[in-house]
Order: sequence, then C-alpha cells, then structure tokens
Amino acid sequence: MNAAAETVRRRVALSGVVQGVGFRPFVWRRATRLGLAGWVENDAAGVVLEVQGNGAAVAAFLDDLASSAPPLASVGRIDVRVVPVDPAAPEGFAILATAVGGRATVHVPPDIAPCPVCLAELADPGDRRHGYPFVNCTDCGPRFTIIESLPYDRDRTSMRGFAMCPRCAAEYHDPADRRFHAEPVACPACGPVTWYADVAAGPIPVSRPTPRRDAAAAGPGAAAAIETAREQLRRGGVVAIKGVGGYHLACDATSAAAVKRLRDRKGRVGKPLAVMVTDVGTASRIATVSPQERTLLEGRERPVVLLRRPSHRSGDGPRLADAVAPGLDVVGVMLPPSPLHQLLGAGLPPLVMTSGNLAEEPIAHVDADAATRLAPLVDAFLLHDRPIHVPCDDSVVRCIAGSVTPIRRARGYAPLPIRLAGGGPAVLAVGGELKAAICVARDDMAIVGQHVGDVASLETLDALDRTADHLLRLFDVVPEAVVADLHPGYLSAEWAGRFAASRGIPLLRVQHHEAHAAALLAEHGYSIATAPGGFIAVCLDGTGFGRDGTIQGGEFLVASGGMLQRRAHLRPFPLPGGDAAIRHPWRTACGVLHAAGLDWPDELPATAAASSADRELLRRQLDRDVNCVATSSMGRLFDAVAAVLGLAPSVTYEAEAALKLECLAAGCAWPGVTIAPYACAAATGNAPLVVDWRPTIASVVAALRAVVPAAEIAAGFHAATVRMIVDTCTRLRDRGAGTVVGLTGGVFQNALLVERSLDALHAAGFEVLTHHVVPPNDGGLALGQAVLGRTLVARERPALADPA
Ligand SMILES: [Zn+2]
Ligand SMILES: [Zn+2]
Ligand SMILES: [Zn+2]
Repeated sequence: MNAAAETVRRRVALSGVVQGVGFRPFVWRRATRLGLAGWVENDAAGVVLEVQGNGAAVAAFLDDLASSAPPLASVGRIDVRVVPVDPAAPEGFAILATAVGGRATVHVPPDIAPCPVCLAELADPGDRRHGYPFVNCTDCGPRFTIIESLPYDRDRTSMRGFAMCPRCAAEYHDPADRRFHAEPVACPACGPVTWYADVAAGPIPVSRPTPRRDAAAAGPGAAAAIETAREQLRRGGVVAIKGVGGYHLACDATSAAAVKRLRDRKGRVGKPLAVMVTDVGTASRIATVSPQERTLLEGRERPVVLLRRPSHRSGDGPRLADAVAPGLDVVGVMLPPSPLHQLLGAGLPPLVMTSGNLAEEPIAHVDADAATRLAPLVDAFLLHDRPIHVPCDDSVVRCIAGSVTPIRRARGYAPLPIRLAGGGPAVLAVGGELKAAICVARDDMAIVGQHVGDVASLETLDALDRTADHLLRLFDVVPEAVVADLHPGYLSAEWAGRFAASRGIPLLRVQHHEAHAAALLAEHGYSIATAPGGFIAVCLDGTGFGRDGTIQGGEFLVASGGMLQRRAHLRPFPLPGGDAAIRHPWRTACGVLHAAGLDWPDELPATAAASSADRELLRRQLDRDVNCVATSSMGRLFDAVAAVLGLAPSVTYEAEAALKLECLAAGCAWPGVTIAPYACAAATGNAPLVVDWRPTIASVVAALRAVVPAAEIAAGFHAATVRMIVDTCTRLRDRGAGTVVGLTGGVFQNALLVERSLDALHAAGFEVLTHHVVPPNDGGLALGQAVLGRTLVARERPALADPA
C-alpha cells in the first residue's frame, strides 16, 4: 500500500502568540480544505490540535503550518507527535471549547489598531456596524487591556458582561467568518455603548445612563455623543476620552487658547504634547513624514511617532499652536488608535491627545477614579462601558538611522515576549526610578510590561504593584528573586525590597549601566557571557548609581569573562546641589565651567539667567565643594552645554535641555564649527581611561565669545561627542576590546547623535548595535536587570543546594 494514502493521526502543540489572533479558524480552514478530520482547542499552553487523514494530506497540513499563520500570530514552539488512528473519529474538523488548567506558556497579544476591513465597515452606511465605535475582528481590537486571565476567552475578558446578540453570535461561531472567536466582537445591538457628559451638568455618570439593550444608546446615541464631543472640541473645550488603555485628554491642537487651557489644568508646563490626526496626508502637512515613518504611523501598533517639523513651513496645512511642542522642531503624531478616536477626529483639525492624568501621575483607567481625578481638568467626558482591565499608555517611537527606536514601550507592543539567549531561573525586575517598566523572565523569554511612569508618587507605586501582580499571574511566573537598581534612594528598589520580603525571596541589586548594556545585548539575542568578544557598551545616560557610589552616566563597559568592566568614563564634574542642578541646568553649567577652570562672567547666557546673589552663593558652594555631587554623566554635560548656549537655564521635564540642543544642532550644517575634541588621559594598567571634556567646553565658550551662532556651536558639540565616542572605542580596541559596539542610555534618544555615531563608527571598522525592542532610556532597564539577575541567582544556586 502507498504510505501516503495510509490513514495517519498527529497531535500538534503550539505555543507563542497563538491565542486571540485567529489561529484556530486558520487551523480549521486549513484542515477543512485538505479534507482532514480532527479538532483544535486553546489550552493554557497555547493551541493543541489533532488531525487525521491520509498521510499526504496530513503532511501538507503540517508543512509550513507555523510560517503561514495569521498576521498577528507568532509561533514560539511547535511539537508534533504520532498518535494512534481513531477508527471512530467523527467526520470533519471541529473547534472545541477552551480547556482550562496546565501551565501558561501562551503569550498575550497587544492591543491592535482597527484593521482596514473594520475601518471600511465603520465608514460604510450600509453596514450594521456603521459608525459603531467598538468594531473589531480577529485581526484587530483590544487584547492586553481587556484580558483578565488566560486562556484567552470572552469569559476571562472585560467583555464578559456583554451577551452577544444572535447575529454577533453567528459570526463568532462560524469558522469561516472573519470574526470567528474574536472575543471582543460586538455591535450596536449588544456591545458597549458611548455617552457624553458635560462637567458643568453635575456629577459624571460612570455607568451607562440608559438601560441595557437600549439600541438607541449604542447606535444613533453613540453618533450623538461623539458629535457633541466634537462640538465641544471645536469650541476650544478640553474633553476626556475613554480610550483603549486609559483616558486621553483632547483639545484642538491648532488653538493656542485651548492648548494653554489644557496645559494649565494638567499642570504640564513645557513637556511636548502628542497630536492625533486621522490620516497620513494631514500628518505630512504638519511634519515631514518619510516612507518608513508613514509605515509606522499606519502600523497596527499605532504609536506616537516623533516627526521633524520643518522650521520654515509653507503651504496651507493646519498650523499647530506653538504651545504643543514649545521650542522644539519635533512633534509626536499618531493616527487614531481605536474606532472611537477615528470617529471623533474625522474632519476636525489635529487634536492634542495626551494621557489623562495630572502631571507625573499614572494614566487614569478606572471610570470612577477618572471621573474624580479628571473632572477638574476638562469640560466634558466621552465615555463608554467596556471596562479597561489593564492600563496601557500610548507608545512613543522615533525613526533613527532608518530603523525604529522605542522611546516609550506600551500600547501595541506590550506584552510581546522577548526571546532570550537561553533559559534560567524566573525573576521579577523592577526597573529604575524614571520611565519605570517591570520585566518578568521565565524559561527563555522575558516579558517587559507596559510603561508605568516615574516612580515618584504613591499612585505610581500602586501602578507598579498592580502591573507586577498582573504580569506574574498572567504569565504564571513564580519569581525566585527580585532585581532592582543599586541606587539607595530609588522608591522602586524599596518596593522591590518589600515584595522580596513578602515572598521570602532574595532582593538582588544590579548596577544601572550594566543593566542598560545587558538589555541591549538581550534584545539582540546575547547574554553577557555570549556577547561578541570584547563587546564595548557605550552607556551615555542621565543618572546611574555606580558600584563605587558615584553618580555615573558617561561609561564605556567592556564584556569580558562573563562580566562587564568599566574601562573608560567621562572625567567627573560637580553638580552643585545635586537634584537642584538637574532641574536648573544653569547650575550644572556653572559646575562644568568651574571644573574646567573657566570664568563664568555675567554675560554668558547660563549665568545671566540667575540673580547675582544666586551666582555668588553658587560660586562659594563650588569653591568650598559643599553639597556638590560628582558625576561622570554625559546627559548632564549635554544639559550644561544647552544652558551655556542659553537654551534651557531651567527645565520642566526630563531631557528638555538635551532635546533643545539636538533640535538646534539639527537645523544647522554639520558639523557647525569645529569644537575641540576631547582629551583622553592615558591610563596605566587596568585603570579605566578618563575622557577629559574640558577642552571641549573651553572651545564651546570660546566660540560663544566669538559670536558664532548657537546652532553651529550645538552642531559642533555633537560632532565633538561623536569623535569622543569613536576615539574612545578605538583606544579600547587597541587595548584588547573587540569590534562590536553598543549604544545605550537615555542620551541615545538623540537621533542626530545616533546617526552620526553610526556613520563614524562604521567608518572606523566597528559593528554597532542599537535599541529596537526596548527603549535606550530607563524604560529598557528592567530587561537588563532581569537578565543579569538570573545569572546571579544561577550562581547562588549550587551554594543553596549544597550547604557544605
Ligand atoms: Zn478588524
Ligand atoms: Zn451584536
Ligand atoms: Zn539610565
């Protein structure tokens, strides 16, 4: 008998991103087309199926099963076993109800922006979901923010409370339908409803104001609610919009008065605001959009994309109010992340779309809390009754040197797993103090949670708590250790200590820049041990607590023997008043000028910003070295140069001075003027090289005194920094380091610096790794902490196992 004609049966188990992405209908269609019998079901580990039929058909079924999976799926592991043929197997292929139990190895998909087919239905007057703000299908819609536990089924999502109408149920149960098992499926007859509430009209109704099953509230009612919100925006009002992962605050981005009102109420002084437009055409009329930026804007993740604005705009495009991104020639732009946003924005001018919170607090996502916290900030609310189970802010990305650099990783990206170089113990890492995001690692994967915010308030600590709890439960991780930064003052480390004590597991501390380096290696599939020989991590950053107790941030770490060694760093300089200097870069500038032995006369913009009494006080403080914190931070050196040029004597948000310096430099011919290169002190033995920035600063001040335009000096300073990076890496290579360089740390959010460094490093014969999965800033820190932490646990293990 022909072997291919013989009946066979196979059992296939798949893990990865295989639930909530249309995987079972894909299997059903494939099996049905080939005339195979069997079944498929979700289980806690992913998807499991059995197929039975003639050998050739089963082989065809299995051939490229993983690689032809639906667009949102990502198959991690696939196991195929031979099982006995079932002579009584029913005809045809079935999709079985979900099995519960077992260990979760499945991955939760992120929230996905409306797909083109759903958008077409939204716009089609003949479609039953015309104008319905919650249209979605197996290829799009909310996922991470509505999932309470696994396996992914409607009963374990915040759609549980919405009983499907017969038509939705028919779509949901039909394997040939594009909504087959789309868990959030809904329509005006059965799904969530939208309503509008004016703050002036009294308390905000946070549950639907009309009884369930009142179709009027969902259909024409939704249109009326959205239209009233649009009216409010047209009049210059500020509206709180309940979105996918939390509330947004919206207003007309072309109205100076509206933007000012929003800023005043939110307490957000200068930090740029993101803008939403409904199409790429409008985006390209307010900023320059490259083909790659277009792809990102329209991509299913729908992040905020940082775009450059030409300084001398022409044409008749909408004009954003200056207060949207004051003093910057970059602006964050996104396309509507949900059908509700699409309906809201259509035909309106660009809208400010910023997180619904008071400055520095986490995004509001619980209705009652949002009504209380946001009512003082807005004129009206646009609400709906699909609960948000998990808060998730907008992601922010930037195209740098032709590829994507995450700046904030949240909606659309979290919680996609990152495949690690190998297995290891389970750990929880809590990140740093700013831009906190946590990471759980288990087996050969790491899950970096969504951006939580700056851990400076009780609210953010609460958010950290909930996120950790949710991720650990969702991914079934029982951590053997908690990992935190070395910094003695971080609230996140304090929180980690309490968590570790409550579970009776060790708290491990990892050095800040070693974590940055490890994160970069991890996203490229390396560990410290498997890093390319003599890998050089260039960590240019704001603040990181050093192993020696100093504040660092201009570090060159070299991987060798499974360790990272600090082989070069910036020459330290004093930060008078520590944190006060970070808020007031003119103070940092004075510290830098003082350390360089330079005068700081009144006419320098940095010093002119302060009163003569303040200057005198600062001079005495520096002379006597009182309350001056020494730092080797490149981020602070950028602050100082920005302040010397008069750009940002004081700042209202993190990295403001550096961002303004970059914008100034980007508008000018490269490299501007020649700014003296760094001196590199020759070190002996294994002592780290000390990179001396004093000639650079002297050169900056000399150019300023020679009345060279500030933009040219800014570009010249960037060029000098690039030379410093290349020269130092070359010296390290001469001293035995390798030829692969990694760029990490918050300073590398600077597109100009990254692009010029890449060119120069490539020209000098280096291969260069940059961030594409987690941010170069502290948002990526937890990934590195997790990777380093599990090495520490593994090292401790033999000792624990064998007390002798
Ligand atoms: Zn869709
Ligand atoms: Zn329905
Ligand atoms: Zn950092």
